Amino acid sequence: MRTVIRDVRLFDGEKTSTDATVLIVDDRVADYDGDLGDIEIDGAGKTLLPGLIDAHTHVFGDDLARALRHGVTTELDMFCLPGHLPAQRALAADRDDVADFRSAGTLATAPGGHPSQLLTAPGIDALDVAPFDIIERPDQAEDFVRARVAEGADYLKIVIDDGAVHGTRLPALGADTATALVTAAHAAGLRVLAHAVTAAEVRIALDAGVDGLAHVWTDEDGALVERVAAQGVFVVSTLVYFAAISDRSAHTPDCARTGTFDGAVRVAQALHRAGVPLLAGTDATPFVPAHGVDLHTELRLLTEVGLTPEQALAAATSLPARHFGLADRGRIAPGLRADLVLVDGDPTTDITATAALAEVWRRGVRQAR
Ligand SMILES: [Zn+2]
Repeated sequence: MRTVIRDVRLFDGEKTSTDATVLIVDDRVADYDGDLGDIEIDGAGKTLLPGLIDAHTHVFGDDLARALRHGVTTELDMFCLPGHLPAQRALAADRDDVADFRSAGTLATAPGGHPSQLLTAPGIDALDVAPFDIIERPDQAEDFVRARVAEGADYLKIVIDDGAVHGTRLPALGADTATALVTAAHAAGLRVLAHAVTAAEVRIALDAGVDGLAHVWTDEDGALVERVAAQGVFVVSTLVYFAAISDRSAHTPDCARTGTFDGAVRVAQALHRAGVPLLAGTDATPFVPAHGVDLHTELRLLTEVGLTPEQALAAATSLPARHFGLADRGRIAPGLRADLVLVDGDPTTDITATAALAEVWRRGVRQAR
């Protein structure tokens, strides 16, 4: 099967060109050979982008299908309950009407630590939450990581969160346990991301040697921004997540959430100015933020913190592919997976155009619109 997209503005994951012709052969982008396609698509007035990658989600039920309907062709899951992981993995491998999926599997958190408090929330019982492995001491780190490798985890996620940003107090992993986990994961060939939402928590994560942060944090600290830059750590933005928890705080005035979103925005601005790679991520769940649609919200928020539209597009395409070692996607080039999004208008100058989806291909399969 050959599909030819003609006369299109092309954002290849890094830079933009005009009047491009792109050939899809089966599941791959190919060198255009000058011939007609079985399907011919007029790209005039449209822009072709790599399929979008959401670098922070939590996948349940039909979330991967929902994501793909909004042009998100890969979701990087940051904690999938063990009872759900095999089914979601099989779905992503076997079907072309859902987003592809990578997962941390079971995250590393202390007994009673974040996100345990969320797993007792109203409505969550429908998700079939079963007990999952937790970790208390550094000497358990090797066994914990071995179990994640057996589970098929693509990277490790560790939680360093004392609950303050959620308006509560929670047990958190100690610095020594965090360090032991990172050491064990790196020995097993896994990247490590930390959930850390205050400057003090991020400092523990950086001391432990993590590769990435799964969120920006919420209280300003210029020296810490410089340290993140110096250590070459990438950061997943999740501004739409902080907007969501700040909204909820309006109904619970006794908690400490007020100003959380503004703080996250200021930290994101500082990280961007310091040259830290910001990857677009939503922290989508079956509740809020929403899979798929809120990645478009996140891209808009990234331009509001100072990224150009092209930089925001890279944050949801080539940048997450590079930092998660996904060499087959995130860019448009011969030989790469044909995960593609065609939109009306020009998102390289107006980021809101990403939501004007005309076509989506997943592994070369054109999605029904
Ligand atoms: Zn999350």
